[in-house]
Parts: sequence; structure tokens; C-alpha cells
Amino acid sequence: MKNNDWSIQKSKDIYAIDGWSEGYFDIDTKGDLLVRPSKSDHSVAIKSIVEEAKKEGVSFPFVIRFQDILANQVKEINQTFQSVIDEANYKGSYFGVYPIKVNQMREVVEEIVAAGSEFNYGLEAGSKPELLSALAFNDNETSLTILNGYKDCEYLKLAMLGRKIGRKVIIIVEKFSELDDIIKVSNEMKVKPLIGVRLKLNVTYSGKWSKSSGEKSKFGLDSVELLKTIEKLKEHKLLDSFKLLHFHIGSQVSDIKTIKEAMNEVTQYYSELVSNHHCMIEYIDVGGGLAVDYDGSRSTNDSSKNYSLHDYASDIVWGIKQKCDLSNLPHPHIVTESGRGVVAYHSCLITDVVDVIKPNTNFDISKYEGEHILISNLRDLLDEDINEDNFQNIYNDAVKLKSETYQAFKLGVVGLKEKALAETIYSLILNDLKKVISKIERVPEGLLNVKDQMAVQYLCNFSVFQSIVDHWAIDQVLPVVPIKNLHIKPDVDASLVDITCDSDGKVDKFIGIDSVSPTVKLHSDIQDYQIGIFLTGAYQDVMGDMHNLFGRLNEVHVY
Ligand code: PLP
Repeated sequence: MKNNDWSIQKSKDIYAIDGWSEGYFDIDTKGDLLVRPSKSDHSVAIKSIVEEAKKEGVSFPFVIRFQDILANQVKEINQTFQSVIDEANYKGSYFGVYPIKVNQMREVVEEIVAAGSEFNYGLEAGSKPELLSALAFNDNETSLTILNGYKDCEYLKLAMLGRKIGRKVIIIVEKFSELDDIIKVSNEMKVKPLIGVRLKLNVTYSGKWSKSSGEKSKFGLDSVELLKTIEKLKEHKLLDSFKLLHFHIGSQVSDIKTIKEAMNEVTQYYSELVSNHHCMIEYIDVGGGLAVDYDGSRSTNDSSKNYSLHDYASDIVWGIKQKCDLSNLPHPHIVTESGRGVVAYHSCLITDVVDVIKPNTNFDISKYEGEHILISNLRDLLDEDINEDNFQNIYNDAVKLKSETYQAFKLGVVGLKEKALAETIYSLILNDLKKVISKIERVPEGLLNVKDQMAVQYLCNFSVFQSIVDHWAIDQVLPVVPIKNLHIKPDVDASLVDITCDSDGKVDKFIGIDSVSPTVKLHSDIQDYQIGIFLTGAYQDVMGDMHNLFGRLNEVHVY
């Protein structure tokens, strides 16, 4: 459906839907945002879910969880690894695990475990309570339960109990000092542990979580500690318990080059340990890091990635295979701990616009007797015919005159009325400038923020701190899209502000055409207008706090 000079394709382009949606979201012919939870022909307009929720009395803001997206992601990751394994004639198997901490909501973990059971997909726990959940949720004895995080004796006892009830619980040694406790608890409980070692790889990357990698990372054993671990395990006749080599570079690894480098390094460790130190390593665990293309740019931006799931699986499987074949070593099983890549897509936040905050342009600016020269000069600028030749000059003069009026106000030379007049005329000049700037290709750097100065703020019913804390904390860009009217040209440049009492409760980093933009295109008609913030299923859902006593959000679960 077309509308004036607009089309649905244009909406898809400005919101980069094809870039970030991974095939789950699209726009239908009526201009409504739709979801295809299983990437099949079955789709549903998000607007209709919202209408149904409203009828049931669910008030804004709310989270929509698409359970089938979770199931589909689990299927895709397992099937992709399997297809690469088949392609490569790789002799080991794939045993993915889902790290509970990325979204520990019961319905999320249950869905993942159910969808993963046919693939022996396991869970990763980073704490005692997470281990309790993992043992309770996943009773598949072939799948893995991987243990990371700080481990006291209680935690280790629980791990040994897990072994006793037949679960494949692998304790990852992340600090050399943990080894003594593991040996002690294993002797006390007479349980032979399954042990993994987290390596401190040299490879680093430049993402937000880069401190998880490199020599100065908090976790992992260096070469000296690794050799000491082997000696200690030998001494306690536990070398055959050493089953897994693990590394975790960090989350959201946006450049595939980092994965390739990590595979080169870890396979060298594997080769050394198996060939020269008599270790019988059965698994290589590449940790998390599978990125999500939040800004849809398919680049190495922090909020993006330059590879597909297939590329990721290929680099891991082929990377290990080539090294093993060269050195005549058995192919180990492959473990990934992808969290973000599994759950980010499945939930979104729906908020409604409760008010619009605009720069003032409707104050009466008529000329009056005895008007101050600063105001007359500003009005003269406004009366000029602004064009491509004079816009830079006009902007510079307007900025100067407004600033001089502010100075004059502080000194008591002009009053409140003059200050209000200066602000209004300045906004009107910027409005005119914006029209000229929108027509030229190369906007001078100093004028790039004219559009942003005139952007309106949509006051939306949600809390940034509760629902999209990474946007505030680490500048995470998330897709923001109105859920309907996408066949109509969005006519407003807006940022979003939330209803919390904090001034940094705002969204001012959006997907732009070439880079991050401080505004997003929205519609001026905000009657019954809802905005979706997408890809919030990983970390955001569960890290938000109880700021302003808003309580937990309503949730709509779609099956
Ligand atoms: N494994 C470990 C040890 C982690 O610390 C994390 C998170 O940082 C993950 C897996 C999950 O990473 P991601 O969500 O990037 O896949």
C-alpha cells in the first residue's frame, strides 16, 4: 500500500528491519509490523496482539514474549552446527548449553530446555541458585551442565550431587585456587568430578565486554597455572577427569576475525595438552559471544556483527578440524555457551506515547514598541529568505544572538518576555534551516545538530532503567519501531523520554542510515500510537531494577 511519497519498503529501510530482524519481523501490506515466530508462513500483526492484550485489561507498558522464537533459535543453532559438522565430516558432536543468567525467567528456560531436548542441549550455571535451577529444569542425562562463576564448597557439593544423580556436570576451573576445593569435595563425597579449565587466551577484541578476554582478564588460567593444574590432577589421580577446555572472549563479539583468532589459539592448547601432556580432552567449549545485529548494519559496530550463524559455526568446526587433522588428533565435541544469540530476539517492550515535548514555536512574536535590538536582529534573521548560500551565516548569527540574549537576561538588561521571544524566534529559524538542510547532501559539521535541536521528545510510559538498562549503561542501540501506520510517512524526528524522575531516562541512540542517530522518525499522530523496542530478550529483561517502585512489567506470552 502506498501513501503519498511513502512506501512500506521505505519504512523497512529507515528502521533497518531486514538487518536486525533475522527473519522474525516484517511489515504486512497494511503497514502493520508483524512477527513470524517460527520463520514460517504463520505470522501475526503485533497490533492485534496489543489489541487483544488491551481487551484483557493488560495495561502499558508490557513485554511480549514470543515463545516460538525461543524454540526456533534453539533449533537453528543446533541444526546449523549439525549441518556444518556433516559438511566437514567432523567426528565430534555439538553440545550447546544455554547460560541461565542471560534470561533466567522460568518460561524462558523451560522453553529452551523443551526445544533443546532432542539436541541434548544443556544449561550453563554461574552461581549456586542457577545450578539448582539447572538441575531441576534439565534432566537430560546426555546434555551438559557447565558450571562457571565463583565456587565455594556448597556449590561444589551440589555439583557432585548432580554427578550422583547422573547429570553430566562439568566444573570449570576459572581460578587455580578452586582446584584444591574441587579435589577436597570430590574426595569427601567420593565422586569423580568432570573438570574443565578456562583458558586465559591472548586474543582480545574491542567490544564492550573486552575485559573478559586477554591476559588481564578476571577469569581463566594462564600457561603456568595450566601446567600446575595438570601436575596437581596427576598427583591426585584425576587427570582423566580433565575433560573440557573452555574460553570466553566476551559477549557480543562483533568481528568474526576475533573468533577465528581464538580458534587458532585454543586448538593449539588442545593439541599441546593431548599430544604432550596425556590429557584426554573430550570437549572444546568456546563460551558465549555470538553477537546480535541490533543496529542491522552487518558491521563490526559494537551493536552489530559481520557474520551469520553459519559463518560462526563454520569457523569453529573447521577451525578445530583443520588443526586436529594436521596433528592427527581426535575431533573433540564442541560446546557453545551462546546466550544473547539465543534469547535476544524473543521479547520486545511495547510502550505508548503519553505526551509530546516540543521546542516552543507558538509564543506571540509580534513586534512591539521599544523592542530590544537583540530581538529585532533575531526577527530580521527570521524574515530573511533562507537558502543554500546563506544558511550557515544565518545559523551562526542566530546562535550568537540567542546567546547574547541569555547574557543580557542574566545581567538584567532584558526581561523574561525577551528571553521567551529569543527562544521562540530561534526555534522558528531552526525550523526553516532544517528544511534547507534536508535538501543538501553535505551538511557542514557545525549544522549537523540542527535537526536534533528541533527534535521533539515523545514521553513514553516505561522506564529505561527497568526495561533497556544497557541503552543507558553502555549505549546499546536497540531497534525502535512503531507497531502500525508503517505505510504512512513518519513526519517527526523524535527521541524518547521515559516517565522516571531521572533526566537520563531517555532513548537518544537509534539506528541511523549510516551511523547511530540521536533521533528516530515517528508519526505526528499519536492517537492510540504504540512503539515497540525490540531485541530485549537477552540481559535487559532480567537486569532492570525496581527503580521508582514501578514494580514488574505486565507480560504477554504468545504461543
Ligand atoms: N559464558 C560465560 C562464561 C559468560 O560469562 C557469558 C556472558 O558474558 C556467556 C557465556 C554468554 O555470553 P553471550 O550472551 O554473549 O552469548
